[in-house]
Amino acid sequence: MKLLVINAGSSSLKYQLYDMTDESVLAKGLVERIGMDSSILTHKPTGKEDVTEVSEILEHTTAIRKVLDKLVDPECGVLQSVDEIQAVGHRVVHGGEAFKGSALVTGDVKSEIRRLFDLAPLHNPPAILGITAAEKNMPNVPQVVVFDTAFHQTMEEKVYLYPIPKVLYKKHHIRRYGMHGTSHDYVSKVAAEVVERPLEELKIITCHIGNGASLTAVQGGVSVDTSMGLTPLEGLMMGTRSGDVDPAVVTFVMNKEELSISEVNSMLNKHSGLLAISGSSSDMRDITDGMEAGEPNATLAFEMYEYRLRKYIGSYAAAMNGVDVIVFTAGVGENSAVVREKVCENLTYLGVELDPELNKVRSGDPRRISTPNSKVDVLVIPTNEELVIARDTFRIVQENK
Ligand code: ADP
Repeated sequence: MKLLVINAGSSSLKYQLYDMTDESVLAKGLVERIGMDSSILTHKPTGKEDVTEVSEILEHTTAIRKVLDKLVDPECGVLQSVDEIQAVGHRVVHGGEAFKGSALVTGDVKSEIRRLFDLAPLHNPPAILGITAAEKNMPNVPQVVVFDTAFHQTMEEKVYLYPIPKVLYKKHHIRRYGMHGTSHDYVSKVAAEVVERPLEELKIITCHIGNGASLTAVQGGVSVDTSMGLTPLEGLMMGTRSGDVDPAVVTFVMNKEELSISEVNSMLNKHSGLLAISGSSSDMRDITDGMEAGEPNATLAFEMYEYRLRKYIGSYAAAMNGVDVIVFTAGVGENSAVVREKVCENLTYLGVELDPELNKVRSGDPRRISTPNSKVDVLVIPTNEELVIARDTFRIVQENK
């Protein structure tokens, strides 16, 4: 079965075409600047030259049509006909409490995703645009939705509730949901394969650290705690997001600086984190370069980032009464040897012993970076959220045949 995975943003759309007979990627690409007159389509067919095309793409339906045109193009295409695509899988950020797993798209499913707009105003509306656009272009093809939150629906009430008036949970569904679920799910499963032990008996801490960053405590294969909450703002210090702050900071700053709700939201989401402390960049590469050059603000930003990450690892070891495996993944986790080194330097109390040479190796494959004596296996596992979406889509379409 060939299927298309779509990750729609408000002005962008990423895609990957899979052949599920061997889970190979036949083509992938990205449409950027949707809604503008100079939209850019970058198409990367496997084994062929990449193609970049600039044109006017005013909405997602046209974007998907242009992608399908590329997939069947005699030069850069990989399909004879669009009819070869037998399913479409969509990434949806927020599934609230309604979705504990992936689902076949129906009218009710779309209504439920719309009801969740309030909880994910930046992310769920574009997902609906992507679904509608795919339905228009491929009316008879089954569509599946895969949620970032679903993996964390196994968290217990004592973990997901905030200690605030309970009526707010009942009325507005205010609770912790967590994000990056497909990634935490994927890397924890791969981790069990790497250490050659059953997932059911492992206590794993997965560190998904990219632009956005979250940690998950995975015990027996299920998420028991995760660092993001109602929104992706809670938890770790990130590129431009603050992560945990005293909630009183919000009202205090609003009062002192006369900020509106959207201004304070923007401050915490877009002007905080590494960017705010370094004063120059949200990118970990720039931060570590600055630190090596002896730049004090970059050094402080790095130290705060590492310290907060390490504290979370400690708290998840406490939550699970131990840890067998720590996984680093996503942009920073997969690429920054210095972040991994500094975090592990102060985890010796858990029995963590990093192999400095293995930590420096660059590779796209899952690998162990701890010594054979280490009590905790430390792994680097490249994440693959698209593959999780493809696998779930395949499974759900088979189940609903
Ligand atoms: P997103 O959350 O947008 O999916 P990614 O997982 O792609 O982000 O991570 C992007 C981040 O990864 C960049 O902002 C950068 O800080 C970091 N990164 C990428 N390569 C490196 C590297 N070689 N060293 C340190 N950090 C890196």
